[in-house]
Amino acid sequence: MTKPTIVWFRQDLRLEDNPALTAAAQRGGPVIPVYIHAPQEEAPWAPGGATRWWLHQSLAALGKDLRAAGSRLILRYGDTLEALRALIRETGAGAVFWNRRYEPQAVAQESLLAATLLDEENEIHTFNSSLLFEPWDVLTKEGNPYRVFTPFWRACLHADSPAEPLSSPSRLTPPSRWPKSVKLTDLELEPRPDWAAGLRETWQPGAAGAMSRWQAFFEDRVGRYDRDRNRPDRDGVSALSPYLHHGEISPRLMWHALLQRRTTRKAASARGVETYMQQLVWREFAHHLLYHFPHTSDEPLRPEFGSFPWQEDEGQLHAWQKGRTGYPIVDAGMRQLWVTGWMHNRIRMVVASFLVKDLLLPWQAGARWFWDTLVDADLANNTLGWQWTAGCGADAAPYFRIFNPVTQGERFDPHGGYVRRWVPELSGFPGRWIHKPWQAPSGVLNDAQVVLGESYPRPIVDHAEARGKALAAFNQLKSARAANLRR
Ligand SMILES: Cc1cc2nc3c(=O)[nH]c(=O)nc-3n(C[C@H](O)[C@H](O)[C@H](O)COP(=O)(O)OP(=O)(O)OC[C@H]3O[C@@H](n4cnc5c(N)ncnc54)[C@H](O)[C@@H]3O)c2cc1C
Repeated sequence: MTKPTIVWFRQDLRLEDNPALTAAAQRGGPVIPVYIHAPQEEAPWAPGGATRWWLHQSLAALGKDLRAAGSRLILRYGDTLEALRALIRETGAGAVFWNRRYEPQAVAQESLLAATLLDEENEIHTFNSSLLFEPWDVLTKEGNPYRVFTPFWRACLHADSPAEPLSSPSRLTPPSRWPKSVKLTDLELEPRPDWAAGLRETWQPGAAGAMSRWQAFFEDRVGRYDRDRNRPDRDGVSALSPYLHHGEISPRLMWHALLQRRTTRKAASARGVETYMQQLVWREFAHHLLYHFPHTSDEPLRPEFGSFPWQEDEGQLHAWQKGRTGYPIVDAGMRQLWVTGWMHNRIRMVVASFLVKDLLLPWQAGARWFWDTLVDADLANNTLGWQWTAGCGADAAPYFRIFNPVTQGERFDPHGGYVRRWVPELSGFPGRWIHKPWQAPSGVLNDAQVVLGESYPRPIVDHAEARGKALAAFNQLKSARAANLRR
């Protein structure tokens, strides 16, 4: 009889289109699904608070789905290799299957595990469940990684199409005796004291939540995505990022549905579909970059930015984190993040630009705050987003292009609905002044019952002045670089 197969789950918390799980089921013999909590092995990027909350709910959902397929989710914590060895001993398993991850810590961990388990005469198989294209498959003609998005996007369109998604195994053979599992609460993923009320109200983690959000977006909104995606006051984006990060939905399933829709629907909706496909490829690009440039989660891709004269100001960092900068669009974004664990992409760019260009604080400080507060905190996407904004990454926004938080607000939240929702002290403000309350006539402030500096902060920096300082800092960097080149 075939020996049991252990399926090691991580960021692939679903049954549908899960290649490791399907292969284990097809191998014959019992299947033992396991999740091992080992945050110390992810250092220095162990999951942050909001991600841990999500993970708790998602593991509960996966456990339920596995039970419906006649199986269970075994939970363990501690050293991953030791936990896998213990399970092999306890169950007589002959093979360990898993879906690959691509972050530097995970790559190093996987190669060590694979080498050791193979040495100990176990069968090992690894699969791709989380990307459309392997980072080593899409390369330039010279065989190098891409650093610019558009040619990467084109190369993806010309690459072999990602495999068709697999359906969930309808039944998984259980072992004759289940190994012991710790309780989910033993992993201590949920916050104490409990600050997660806003997360609970906003999200339904797990594969069922992912599928209902995807279906609603795909049926009703993807056709308008190109027009609505920059409007935080509209329901224009999919908000699937935490599900994609945790592997609760398969990007291949989404990709094939989109490809089909693109060819069968009329041109206006095809544009929305194609723009959405591009965003999925930005996610691929982020993983491609982090895989090929593993130091970039902590250091700039463009080395000259290593000597950028960043400032240190705890008070300003704190004001930014808490949404008390006095710039309503920035504060709305930071408060949306604090309450829901998520922020609209346009606003992520605005708040990130404000941190690195108006406050001259290092992008790594922003990346760390996002890491702890986002339910979709993802090392590849977060690194790309911050390096892009700071101007030091691949295909980055040039440093001298500095977002003006007032005009960004006026352009993308033209009626102020987004600001009113997240900054309730400004809820009585008329649209004309809502993005620049410090310029409002006193009658408007009185009517809206706002006392600047008391009920809502005055701007912590003057944008025009801050812009000048940022440009001076950038020019200093450019001159230093030119001098180095001349030497
Ligand atoms: C400073 C900064 C930090 C960011 N940190 C993260 C992060 O930690 N985790 C994360 O998933 N995204 C991050 N992003 C990218 C982007 O903001 C989010 O993916 C997006 O807002 C998620 O919302 P959505 O699912 O509605 O996206 P949609 O617009 O519906 O897009 C669909 C999917 O495409 C992918 N995607 C979209 N835009 C990007 C992008 N610019 N880069 C990479 N993938 C993208 C995401 O997986 C997203 O779920 C960051 C962006 C910036 C500017």
